[in-house]
Parts: sequence; structure tokens; C-alpha cells
Amino acid sequence: MRTIKAFGTTAASEPLKPMDIVRREVGLKDIKIAITHCGVCHSDIHTARNEWNNSKYPVVPGHEIIGKVIGVGADVTQFKEGDLVGVGCLVDSCHHCPPCNRHLEQFCEKGATFTYNSHDKHIKGQQTYGGYATEVVVDEQFVLRIPKNIDPAAAAPLLCAGITTWSPLRHWKVKKGDKVGVVGLGGLGHMGVKFANALGAKVVMITTSPEKAKDAKSLGAHEVLISKNKEEMAAHNNSFDFILNTIPVGHEMDPYIGLLKIDATMVLVGAVENLKPFHGGGIIGGRKRIAGSLIGGIKETQEMLDFCGEHNIVSDIELINMQDINNAYDRVIKSDVKYRFVIDMESLKD
Ligand code: NAP
Ligand code: ZN
Repeated sequence: MRTIKAFGTTAASEPLKPMDIVRREVGLKDIKIAITHCGVCHSDIHTARNEWNNSKYPVVPGHEIIGKVIGVGADVTQFKEGDLVGVGCLVDSCHHCPPCNRHLEQFCEKGATFTYNSHDKHIKGQQTYGGYATEVVVDEQFVLRIPKNIDPAAAAPLLCAGITTWSPLRHWKVKKGDKVGVVGLGGLGHMGVKFANALGAKVVMITTSPEKAKDAKSLGAHEVLISKNKEEMAAHNNSFDFILNTIPVGHEMDPYIGLLKIDATMVLVGAVENLKPFHGGGIIGGRKRIAGSLIGGIKETQEMLDFCGEHNIVSDIELINMQDINNAYDRVIKSDVKYRFVIDMESLKD
């Protein structure tokens, strides 16, 4: 066991602060990573503040991890010291159940091990601690290869915001010419816009923030729809092939359902809580579908990263020091981030 520096919180109402945590020694199939960058996902805030009522303290968030390999176990075959690697939301699963066999480790029947706030199989009595730390030790099967041509800091958000938006766009087979709505221009939303654009869709940014319209267009949206403007929304009724909804809280569903065409689907990725009741007629008339999606498996995450390497796609980020994290959380809550905070982990060494 090794004690390392981290940043975390001891209670829902407490700010994040420096703390020491313990990592396991490198096992036969493990990779030890010196973390250089970690993205700040809204899920980090939900967990630090116990908004999903499942947090175990202390919480050390962070599941958009980039770093350099500094140690490999004797049985590791795919990585060597010095490699640039990533770790996303998953660090383990049972490897044998039907979902694991389908490369859907996030739905492991025995319960996937998430990067933070999950039962730690290796250290008794401890939950997993995430990437707001100097180092992490991870099974090589859950380590991703980062394309050499993309900026490592701006690649960090691909590990969660990237795969969470890529996976539903691929699963629902979004294709050239489809009219795709992306709801919420934050960390996930801005990646959704970039990917939908790269897949050839006609992308409409659906936002509560008129001041983000110009940015939305430069990120790849062809049109911007202000969700608070009822007439503007009504003009787009029954016209979307697919909607990716990243709103982080329960919200009115009817206005978005109204936008869908016959047989079209809206996928929710953000609202892990009660939704406002919606009228069944809205989906019955039009055979419309509401679905959900959770991150993506490791194989699909590598495919997404490789696509980003080929198409030069990264996140638009604001690089911060670890010590700025509480202010960054407040700004994410105010939807005031362009469009993902990434922590420069060098600052944690100070
Ligand atoms: P974020 O950066 O805070 O972006 C969310 C955006 O949603 C905001 O920028 C804002 O965009 C819009 N929004 C916020 N509050 C709203 C409200 N009350 N009504 C309507 N729109 C609102 O968050 P994120 O990191 O992208 O994450 C989004 C959600 O996805 C979070 O709940 C997160 O926990 C969840 N998540 C899920 C998965 C998964 O696997 N399913 C993975 C990662 C994250 P506008 O200003 O444009 O309106
Ligand atoms: Zn996340």
C-alpha cells in the first residue's frame, strides 16, 4: 500500500480539501499511472454533495483521468512505462457475465466497479477513490490508449463526457442528414454537438442560455433553439430524428417529447432522479421513445478515442489548479463553464 496526495470531501456540506489516501501496490495485471490531468464532471458534484443519496465518505471524485504509465505488473501485455493512457468511469467488472461478454461492463450483473464511490475489491473496508489524486492503480483491461496527436489535457473529458455522448449516438445509429437535438450545452452537451456534427447530422443545440448560441455554432451546431421560447420550440415540433438530453436535474419532458418525429427517440443521460410527470399521449401519438444510456463499455470507449484521434476531436476546456476546485463546482452549477474544467494535477504536488 502507498499513501498519496488527493483532494476530496468528508461530508455532503463540506468543501473539497487536501487529504491523503491509500492506493494498492501494483498487482500482476495492474498499471500504475501518474495522473497529469483530470476532468471535472457534473457527476463528481452530484457525488461529492450526495445528491444521488449513495455517497460514502470520504469522496475523492474524478473519472476523466489522463496520465503516464509509471509501473506495470508482471502479466501486463498491452502497456509499458511511459505510455500516455486514460481511465474513465470504470475500473473493474466481473469479466464473465452476459453484459461483460457483450463489452457492456457498465451493466455488469455482479455490479461494475466505478472509479470512485464503489466497493474497492482490493482494499478492505475502503471504497474506490477517483482521479483528483497524484496516482492511480488500475487493471490493464480498464486502461485506455490515448491517441498521440491530441492534447492530453483536452482529451481528459473524452473519458466520460465523450463516451457518454458517443455511445447513444452510435447505438441509435445517428447518420448523415438526421436532425439531431442536443439539450444542454455543458460538458456532455458540447461533446454531443461535436460528435453529432462529425457523424454528418444536422445538429440543433437546444439551450436555456441564449448567450451560448455563438459558441454552439462554432462547436458544430447548425441551428440554436432557446428552450424557454415556446413559439420557437413549437416551430420545431415533430421534426427531430433523435434528441440527446443532458439536463442534470428532473425537468419538464413534454416540450422535448413534442419535438420528436414519429418513431424518434430521446435519450436521457443527465437526470438520474425523478422526472416531472409527462402526458402519455405525447409518446403514444407518434410511437415516440424515451430511453436512457450509461457511459459506454471499454471497447466502445477505445473506438471513440481512436475516432477522436482520426478526426482531431477534443474537448474545449478551462485548465484549473486543484486548489480552485470548489469555485469550479460553483461555476458548473451556474452553467458557467466553457465547456469542461480540467485539473492540472501538477498543482496537487505543491
Ligand atoms: P454540465 O456541464 O453542468 O452541463 C449541463 C447543462 O445542462 C448546463 O450547462 C445547462 O446548459 C443545462 N442545464 C442545467 N440545468 C438545467 C435545468 N434546470 N434545465 C434545463 N437545462 C439545464 O453537466 P455535465 O457534466 O454535462 O453532465 C450532465 C448530466 O449528465 C449530469 O447530471 C451528470 O451527472 C450526468 N452524467 C451522466 C452520465 C451517464 O453515463 N448517463 C455520464 C456523465 C454525466 P444550457 O446552459 O445550455 O441550458
Ligand atoms: Zn462523468
